[in-house]
Order: sequence, then structure tokens, then C-alpha cells
Amino acid sequence: MDIFHNNPMLAGVRQMLGAFAKQQIRPIADQHDRDESMPWDLMKMAQGFGMTQTAVVDGRKALTGKDEEGDAAKPKSQARIGCAGSEELAYGCAGICLAIGGSGLAASPVARMGTEEQQQEFRRLLKGDDDHGHIKVAAMALSEPSTGSDISGLSTVARPDGDHFVINGHKQWITNGASASVYVVWANTDPSAGRAGVRGFIVARGTPGLVPGRKETKLGIRASETAQVHFEDCRVHKDMLLGGGATSEGLSDTKKMLDSTRPMVGAQAVGIARAAFDYLVERVQGGTMQGTPLAHHQRVAFELAEMEMEIQAARALVHKAAWMADHNMDNVRMASMAKAYGAKVAQDVTSRALTLLGEEALESGHPVEKWYRDAKIYDIFEGTGQIQRRIIARSIFGVNPT
Ligand SMILES: Cc1cc2nc3c(=O)[nH]c(=O)nc-3n(C[C@H](O)[C@H](O)[C@H](O)COP(=O)(O)OP(=O)(O)OC[C@H]3O[C@@H](n4cnc5c(N)ncnc54)[C@H](O)[C@@H]3O)c2cc1C
Repeated sequence: MDIFHNNPMLAGVRQMLGAFAKQQIRPIADQHDRDESMPWDLMKMAQGFGMTQTAVVDGRKALTGKDEEGDAAKPKSQARIGCAGSEELAYGCAGICLAIGGSGLAASPVARMGTEEQQQEFRRLLKGDDDHGHIKVAAMALSEPSTGSDISGLSTVARPDGDHFVINGHKQWITNGASASVYVVWANTDPSAGRAGVRGFIVARGTPGLVPGRKETKLGIRASETAQVHFEDCRVHKDMLLGGGATSEGLSDTKKMLDSTRPMVGAQAVGIARAAFDYLVERVQGGTMQGTPLAHHQRVAFELAEMEMEIQAARALVHKAAWMADHNMDNVRMASMAKAYGAKVAQDVTSRALTLLGEEALESGHPVEKWYRDAKIYDIFEGTGQIQRRIIARSIFGVNPT
């Protein structure tokens, strides 16, 4: 019996995506990590299985309180399903998990803040294949060269001009930034208002002035593309201002959007930790040291016990944060705890696994070496470890955490 036992939908997702991770993701993970290439064929296959690029927008009814199956008596579990699935995909490969699900970063604010028309437009822009025959993906462009954590300091500006806004600025570290067919970009419509002026816009690829930029070379999650995006006098119709302006809360909505995605990021980190843990257990079970089975060495056994405690605790935090989101409860503190602790556990478990295995695991192409590199990024994106701790601490003292 485990945390999933009383929810057949969760258990089913876990089983199906667990098999997908082992049979389809693992065999190609090393190659895409080496090449730093997106697994486009696998992404198309995943889309065929229902992991669509618009899934977050399509599931909006559940996010906004109506039951996902139309039965109000049944408990909602959309956020928990997202977490269970994310853990399994990241168990296969965190970079490929992000390649499959990265559009969700852009879909999330469209689902949360977009009007019905904007959601339709977002879906339309993601229909069919792109010029390379690849499925279409979306990007969420918030971070800038000098602004990552402090999003109130954005320097990208959207100047009103009749029925349009003219966007100018540079975005960096954007998932799917070079390949996206649609972007959700954050810009300040009124710099004199500071953070209150920040709004989101849907911008289609091919809009004059939208220039996808340089692709970055990264330490980990290399199967997921990260790139710069430039906006040079990019004219966007005011209909593409998320929420239509009148209803949009701007930056505060942006921050709420991160509360809904952080448990899933924590779940991915748990998936990485579990991958390293399972690898180690298998190795220990088959190995001996000075004639004694490795599992009988207390130092090794205690290391594994410590890792198992951490993984189970991290997963429990992730599912509590997601459960709160499913029940429309304020989960800011819990979402930050789930994300920060998941990242800490992924780094700790992969680092311990590397130490236990010794030099073999340092070799390029060794799975533990890859998981160790992948884990670090979970301490940085979607709000760094320090930013999560700042949110948790402020919440403890009753200060508005965001
Ligand atoms: C692989 C990857 C994918 C990404 N994808 C996207 C994406 O799709 N869209 C997007 O918009 N962004 C994306 N990012 C950017 C990511 O969200 C930022 O890197 C992250 O928010 C951190 O910002 P920064 O790198 O500018 O660090 P900074 O904000 O410059 O922080 C530098 C250091 O200072 C610390 N710090 C900052 N402020 C405080 C504070 N108040 N208190 C204590 N410590 C503080 C930070 O914790 C950090 O250690 C991605 C990043 C990576 C690595």
C-alpha cells in the first residue's frame, strides 16, 4: 500500500508512464543528452498517448473547480495526476520529461488567466506540425539576462500603441525558446507602476520582431532546449494581452502560476532521485565486498535507508502540495517546500550514489553521472532554492510570501 493506493487514476497513470519511461525514454536518454537534441519522434508518440502540448489548457475545467469527469462528488486529482506522471517521466530522463511537458509552462498562464478566445487561439497555434515536421511546442518567456528571481525588475517593455502593444526586450533561459510556435511573453506595460505593470501576451512565431535567439549549452536536462528570445519592435494586438487587461492581476497571477507548477517540478526531482536509488539497489544486491554481500555492509545499507527516507518524504510533500491545489487551497508554502525539498533530495541522492559507486560513475555516459548533472538544475529553475526558502520563511512569519 502506498500514497497512490486509494486513487486508481493515479495508480494507472503511474503504471502507464512508468512503463513508457522504461521502454521508450531510457533507451534514448543517453543519446539525446550527448547530442543536446530534442526527442521529436518520442514527443510525437507521447502526444498520441494524450500527453498533448495543450493538456493544461484543455484541463482548465478541473483547475477552476469543476470536476474533471463531470461528477462533482468525486475527488479532483488533476494536480496529483500531473505530479505522478512527472515523477515517472523524469525517472526515465528529466530532460526528455521537460521536452514532452515544457509547453505546460506557457499553457499554465493561458489556462489560468486567458479568455476563452485566447485559449482557442493558443490551441490553434499549436495544431499540426511545424515546418520541420515536428509537433508544435510553446515557450514561456519571463526570465531576462539581468532578471531571473526578481521578476518585478523586468526590463522588457510593452508600449501601448492604438490597438496594439509594441514589445521590446531580451529573454534568456527560455525552455523551447528557439523552436516554439507560440510564446507567452511577460513585459511591463507601465514601467512607472513597477511590478503592477507586468502583463503576459500570447505571441505567435513569425510575428515580425519576434526573433528566436541562441540555444544555450547546459550542464543537465540537455534533451530540453533552452534558448534566448528577442523582441524588437514586436507589434502584438491588444486581444493577445492575457485576461484582456481588465481581469488580469498581472504579476501576482504570474506568481500564482508558479505555485501550480512547482509541485510538478518537485515530482520530477523525486523521479531523478528514485532513478539513482533504484540503480544503486540493483548494483548492491548483486555485489560483494571482500566476500561479503554488499547489502550486509552496514555503511552501504544505512546509506540506502537514508536515501529511501528522503525520497518518500519528498514525494509526500509533493503530493500534499498537489492535493491542496486540487482542493483549491492556498498551497504557496507547501508548493515551495515540495519544490525545494525535492531538489535537495535529488542532489543529495545522486551525489551519495556517485560517492558509493566511485570512479565508474564519473565516466561520461554513466547514468548516475547524468542524473547528478540533471539534479542540479532543479535547484535553479522555477525559483531557486534560496527563493523557495524565502517564500517559506515569509509564510512562517505571516508576511505575504510572494
Ligand atoms: C534549464 C532551465 C530552463 C529554464 N526555463 C525557463 C523558461 O522556460 N522560462 C523562463 O522565463 N525562465 C526559465 N529559466 C530561468 C530560471 O527560471 C532562472 O534561471 C531562475 O529563476 C533564476 O534566475 P537567475 O538565473 O537570473 O538567478 P538570479 O535571480 O540572478 O539569482 C542569482 C543567485 O542569487 C540568489 N537570490 C536572488 N534573489 C535572492 C533573494 N531575494 N534572497 C536570497 N537569494 C537570492 C538566487 O537564489 C541565486 O542563487 C530556466 C532556467 C534553466 C536553468
